[in-house]
Amino acid sequence: MSEPTKENFPEIVMPKPEPIRILSGQKALVTGANSGIGEGIAIQLAKAGADVVVNYVNNPDEANAVVEKIKKLGVNAVAIQADVSNEAEVISMFNQMFKEFGTIDILINNAGLQQDSPFDKMTIEKWNKVINVNLTGQFLCAREAIIEFKRRGVKKEISCAAGKIIHISSVHEVIPWAGHVNYASSKGGIMMLMKSIAQEVAPFRIRVNSICPGAIRTPINKNAWDTQEAYNKLMELIPYGRIGEVEDIGRAAVWLASDHADYITGTSIFIDGGMTLYPGFATGG
Ligand code: NAP
Repeated sequence: MSEPTKENFPEIVMPKPEPIRILSGQKALVTGANSGIGEGIAIQLAKAGADVVVNYVNNPDEANAVVEKIKKLGVNAVAIQADVSNEAEVISMFNQMFKEFGTIDILINNAGLQQDSPFDKMTIEKWNKVINVNLTGQFLCAREAIIEFKRRGVKKEISCAAGKIIHISSVHEVIPWAGHVNYASSKGGIMMLMKSIAQEVAPFRIRVNSICPGAIRTPINKNAWDTQEAYNKLMELIPYGRIGEVEDIGRAAVWLASDHADYITGTSIFIDGGMTLYPGFATGG
């Protein structure tokens, strides 16, 4: 088997496609949008013409900075505080969004965290925290969005669909992860949450899908990329030979939320540079 050479494949080239305003007039809510993937998606949705709610829980300054960046792109944005695992706060966030923007067209269920531990040392607090934020939080936000999508129905001039939900899951909805059992369980749960909701609401022309990122350069996994040694080790898991950037996820979210993806529902899209291709078998196993 021939190897890629440095002459033919000299450096990593990041794509820089021009934004197309395919989400003009749509109203989006991105949970956990003050940081990382959530911020990256919020910026790309705004570039595509959507008005965006930037949800945050702890960091108003970061959230307001994202709002300012978005407003410079010529669309509207507002920061709303809510802990996605708290039912009353989620309901209040949606009500604030409806006051500001009138409705919701796109929900990006992104907020998530890790609290790692060997399994036999995992406390009930760590288990509950991760399941509550990563899984129950996605349930609560999806439920509130669907109530509004069903109430409003399809507005043809805005979108073919009555609403779109994108769950941010992970490659760990299919790759087991020792030392991270609570996290992997939450992501496996998101897969069936997404598929079951998608099945139930498809007749209402509501589309529900997941994006499953591999290793994306954000604060959540800093120790996997912030030294050369860690980065080289990470590359053993990524056939495509580079870490993912938040733009890789943001651009895919724009497309998946748009009418270009109108026939797609109930699907997990893996954006992982080949991490789920069993790279250990690349040389024959
Ligand atoms: P991040 O930079 O740490 O962002 C996580 C976001 O979630 C932060 O804005 C955080 O707010 C927010 N959040 C945490 N608990 C919350 C709560 N109770 N209510 C509302 N917001 C809350 O990490 P990230 O990498 O962007 O992660 C975003 C999502 O992508 C997560 O669901 C993660 O599991 C998933 N993911 C990431 C990767 C990766 O390689 N980065 C890979 C696969 C999946 P604070 O800043 O206030 O804590």
